[in-house]
Amino acid sequence: MSLLDLETNELKELAADVRGRYEELKAKNLNLDLTRGKPSAEQLDFSNEVLGLPGKDTYRDKTGADVRNYGNLQGIVDIRELWAEVLGVDAANVIAGDSSSLNIMFDLISWAFTFGTNDSERAWREEEAVKWICPVPGYDRHFAITEQFGFEMVSVPMLDDGPDVDAIERLVQDPQVKGMWAVPLFGNPTGVIYSREVVERLAAMETAAPDFRIVWDNAYAVHTLDGELPENPDVIALSAAKGHPNRFWYMSSTSKITLAGAGVSFFASSQENLDWYASIAGIRGIGPNKVNQLAHARFFGDAEGVRALMRRHAGSLEPKFRAVIDILESRLGEFSVARWTQPQGGYFISLDVLDGTATRVWELAKDAGITLTKAGSAFPHGVDPNDRHIRLAPSLPPLAEIVEAMDGVATCVLLAAVEKLGA
Ligand code: PMP
Repeated sequence: MSLLDLETNELKELAADVRGRYEELKAKNLNLDLTRGKPSAEQLDFSNEVLGLPGKDTYRDKTGADVRNYGNLQGIVDIRELWAEVLGVDAANVIAGDSSSLNIMFDLISWAFTFGTNDSERAWREEEAVKWICPVPGYDRHFAITEQFGFEMVSVPMLDDGPDVDAIERLVQDPQVKGMWAVPLFGNPTGVIYSREVVERLAAMETAAPDFRIVWDNAYAVHTLDGELPENPDVIALSAAKGHPNRFWYMSSTSKITLAGAGVSFFASSQENLDWYASIAGIRGIGPNKVNQLAHARFFGDAEGVRALMRRHAGSLEPKFRAVIDILESRLGEFSVARWTQPQGGYFISLDVLDGTATRVWELAKDAGITLTKAGSAFPHGVDPNDRHIRLAPSLPPLAEIVEAMDGVATCVLLAAVEKLGA
């Protein structure tokens, strides 16, 4: 039965029932938050050992260098080698940084804007316009960066196997299109995994701009919910083989593996790109926090240590994701007023409600004490043209709270839908 097919009296009956449920929901005076994809306290506890590492007697990296002192812009070899194995790329192409990969992404865009990249004819600020491809729905903080620099953001729809690559191949014929955001595995917020074909086409396509860059933000490379890790293509080697060695700025971090905000970030790219980065990073600072890098190398032990930790995260996250999906299915499944993704990894579920009702769902939830990520936030400038998308982030709250919040969200989705249908 679809809500859209109901007779007027049936719809009225349902509307009365949903309104009653909503009043009951409000009477509970909830205070629940499903907004940001933060790890829970339980997950953070998995990495408490990091707080005591590397330990006061072991402050030398593999090369014998004292990590307490200044220097080594590219980060210590211990963690670079370990992480290269996790990602499946050559350690020579990996730099280890401070705690935030987002900071590096901001720097890359900022420096391309101010100085131009190693392949630029001029600084991007001297271009008449810089256009940037944004697969939607996408990560709000990515879009905030390109908005900050005044880039014209061009939306491309996210399909089941990655962004619409036909559209991308057409857009890159424009020399003002300088780059693109990408979250290739378990994407934020859809959970989509880019197919091999999409990745190969992105690596191989000819672009009018010689300095076109793809920010390959592999923030969820190992964040499986079911223990299965998808293929993680080495886009650095792949793009080199296709004749575009400098195409990818590959990002990664341990933020949602160990301690969010106190982990280690990584930037992987061609030697030329890394040299360009270092030529400016070396002016911005003397070197990264190598003490924390050594702490992480010791904590993980090896790449298998990372995978074992991710299985513990999966054990904590999977029941929460399953609860969200089960509630959506049982409360909304029969009405055909919403669709949702069923990701096998990552931190988010995308919920598409009846067109034109996402903002209303958000308001109704807020009034009932359930905070959702603002409708539209997964789109450039915070505007969802269809007003249909809501990003759900089930990681942080305890399971019981998720169940309560999602049951409330389902009521809000139904109420907004019956309102929209005039009942
Ligand atoms: N990229 C994506 C796609 C993310 O979802 C997040 C965290 N929400 C980040 C980057 C942030 O990474 P970091 O903590 O390394 O800055």
